[in-house]
Amino acid sequence: MRFNSRLKIDLGWFAHNIDELKKLAPHNQIVLMVKSNAYGHGMVPIAREAIHAGVKEFGVASLGEGITLRKHLPQKDFEIYVFSDLECYQDKGWGPYLNNRLIPVISNKSVLSLFLNDPSTRHIPLVLKFNTGMNRLGFLQSELPYLISELKTHHRTHLFHIMSHFACASQLINEQSFSFKQYQNFKIIKQELIHQGFHIERSSMANSGAIEQGFALEETHIRPGLMVYGPSSLNHDVRPMGHWKGVMISELSTHIIQVNPIQKGMPIGYGAVPSPKDGLLTLLALGYGDGLFNHFRHITVSLNSYLGEAVGRINMDMLAILWEHSAASQLKLGTPITLWSHQDSRFNTLSDQNQISPYEILCGLSERIPRIYFHEKKGG
Ligand SMILES: *Cc1c(COP(=O)(O)O)cnc(C)c1O
Repeated sequence: MRFNSRLKIDLGWFAHNIDELKKLAPHNQIVLMVKSNAYGHGMVPIAREAIHAGVKEFGVASLGEGITLRKHLPQKDFEIYVFSDLECYQDKGWGPYLNNRLIPVISNKSVLSLFLNDPSTRHIPLVLKFNTGMNRLGFLQSELPYLISELKTHHRTHLFHIMSHFACASQLINEQSFSFKQYQNFKIIKQELIHQGFHIERSSMANSGAIEQGFALEETHIRPGLMVYGPSSLNHDVRPMGHWKGVMISELSTHIIQVNPIQKGMPIGYGAVPSPKDGLLTLLALGYGDGLFNHFRHITVSLNSYLGEAVGRINMDMLAILWEHSAASQLKLGTPITLWSHQDSRFNTLSDQNQISPYEILCGLSERIPRIYFHEKKGG
């Protein structure tokens, strides 16, 4: 645990992003993805704020995440979908789903059979995921006849929610794109189910990348994740085409723990990497033990008008930054340094320059960095 290296999370900006999201998709209900600890931001505080902003449905990846969310917000009225790690096999069965009001997303024949053959699932809404080309989770189009006959045999013709997932929504979506083809497949599946007499209450396909491009918004629901935390999900070259006006809800800051002069060629840290020039070397209290892995090759920080650049290897506990001598008056023990903040593009730059996806940067921040919650943005 640290004190001064921390991820400050402004829930006011988060509420602002939910408002911006509603502007982009005014006719859709939201399933807010809060898996992996709300992309590193803290599942419970984020869900609580989202409920306050009118969100009523959440998506998690695992049964354990679903149970945790329900236990921490017992009085609130909201739905939780469990997407991939259902753990309904062996002796667990569907009891945890019934007891915690969780909705499993069923993606294959084995799980469907466990579901349909257990009478206790009669009161659990039926949610099906289809594979429209990603070949990860989901029923294949070729399994439709089997699926239809199984569901009819068990009198489950009311489909609470059907969905599919895009493989390439971070790329440009046009009529030639893979996303376009996937969405066509989804529409064919939906039509066939309707034709076969099924009642479909809800449907969804759009994740952040699709929502940012205004795609697949004809369904009742959208399933945003990354974007509500601020960053665009679109690749660098496509980003200008997106419509997202979100703001980073987090600010990652640390502080200086040592300042020393260094000469060009002098070895620095593990591997004795030679300093590229004369200057002042500061150590910051962030390392790979905090999630700042050595895949980060380009880290630039600024202090007033001075720029510092990471040199040498990132350690478990600290990181070395080299500055010009003229920055001396700014560089004091305890001086705060931010890696990214709310209304700047440094988070994008960090992601682009290091070719590390925004998803991985946020989910990678370890538990040693405290998440501190604020409500500074007003009127959100
Ligand atoms: C994670 C996830 C999402 C959200 O994706 P983003 O790119 O973060 O918006 C949507 N749907 C499913 C099934 C997911 O697993």
